[in-house]
Amino acid sequence: MKTFYIETFGCQMNAHDSEKVVGTLVSEGYLQVEAPEQADLILYNTCSIRDKAEQKVFHRLQQFKKEQGKGKVFGVLGCVAQQEGEAIFERAPHVSLVAGSASYAKLPSMLVQLEAGDRRVTGLKFDAEEAFETPFTRRDNPHRAYITIIEGCDKACSYCVVPFTRGPERSRTSASVLKEAGELASMGYTEIQLLGQNVNSYRDPSPAAWNFARLLRAVGEVNGIRRVRFTTSHPRDFVEDIVKAIDENPVLCNHVHLPVQSGSNRVLEGMQRLYTREDYLRRIAWMKAARRPISITTDIIVGFPGETEAEFEDTLALLEEVQYDSLFSFKYSKRPNTAALGLVDHIAEEEKSRRLTILQEYQRAIQIRRNTDLIGTIEETFIEGYNQATGQWVGRTTQNRILNFIHAEHTGPKDGETLAGRYVNVRVTRAGPNSLAGEAV
Ligand code: SAM
Ligand code: SF4
Repeated sequence: MKTFYIETFGCQMNAHDSEKVVGTLVSEGYLQVEAPEQADLILYNTCSIRDKAEQKVFHRLQQFKKEQGKGKVFGVLGCVAQQEGEAIFERAPHVSLVAGSASYAKLPSMLVQLEAGDRRVTGLKFDAEEAFETPFTRRDNPHRAYITIIEGCDKACSYCVVPFTRGPERSRTSASVLKEAGELASMGYTEIQLLGQNVNSYRDPSPAAWNFARLLRAVGEVNGIRRVRFTTSHPRDFVEDIVKAIDENPVLCNHVHLPVQSGSNRVLEGMQRLYTREDYLRRIAWMKAARRPISITTDIIVGFPGETEAEFEDTLALLEEVQYDSLFSFKYSKRPNTAALGLVDHIAEEEKSRRLTILQEYQRAIQIRRNTDLIGTIEETFIEGYNQATGQWVGRTTQNRILNFIHAEHTGPKDGETLAGRYVNVRVTRAGPNSLAGEAV
């Protein structure tokens, strides 16, 4: 039997793409193995969102170069593959397959070429009109499942490589998304995460022409599904109806990740984000006016070219105003092909690091305050597993907070029996910056 090993870098979209790739390979008669040394085919599903991510891929590729002599075949998939294209064959001559995510539908035919001994197989065109649909997805998590609703991105944020690596937007039909959600529910999944670079610009290509809010409502009605999450939302396309949908149905988790990137209008313009700070705050106001307490999280880039100290402070002031529950923060990183490359006044690395540290400390204090406010509340928690080291169960609240807790009747997994996948009510007794702790009630 042919064997393969796959390693995945980057975002949830990549993680889910790998699940589809694995499913496709297994359906083609391949067996997945745990280590590259055991595999005939070694695949890296790569990320190129920042330069560090990209360097990691090439480093990893070099580590296993000597395995080639043992007859192994190497493939690079995902964003680095799409971005670097055939140049990968030059930089890493032991690679035989280079394919971007828009070509995965052709994976079976690319495998046939590889098996026939082809040394340079590529899948780099954005000619797949439809999203990558596969009945063979092999899911890593037995309780929470991802569903891609839209692939690619039609925005042109000046710092971002995604439009180049994932191509133009392609939405899946609502019927196909609902069919997948129904199948997942009948397999025992209770939580679904809808994925896309910009889920808000979802547009059903079938005559029903549903928008994202309509689709979200429908997924929330699927029998057996208890939690629905979605990521990521672009503020420009985030409409109030999404907040209304969350208010109407507790199955839709009350958490919205709404990346702002900067609190300065001048920087937002340079980033080509297509909204102002005021537009963004209007969306925050919709969420704060909701009946359910909606947790809000974001992404921030510090040190965008030309960002002044005062503009950086505008971002800190925005954090104070919004009071995010969590955020991902990054130093601006130059990316090939992007418009921001042409901007003058790039910020020194040390200065970016200084701003990042200040921002993270600022946000840490906000999170301690916000989490402390939850002490004494009872939170429905979806159990993900058990931490042997701390002797606590680990779960997540609907707001996506991590909650570590003890359970008087279940002091740990016994005889292979675990609480993972169940929902319990937990009283919050302690709070840290990144998680809560409590006791099941
Ligand atoms: N489509 C999503 C969006 O618009 O928010 C996610 C894009 S990306 C996978 C996730 C985050 O990476 C972005 O929100 C941004 O903060 C960060 N990012 C993207 N390009 C970057 C760059 N060149 N340098 C630093 N951070 C970057
Ligand atoms: Fe990148 Fe902007 Fe598209 Fe997000 S919306 S993937 S940041 S171009």
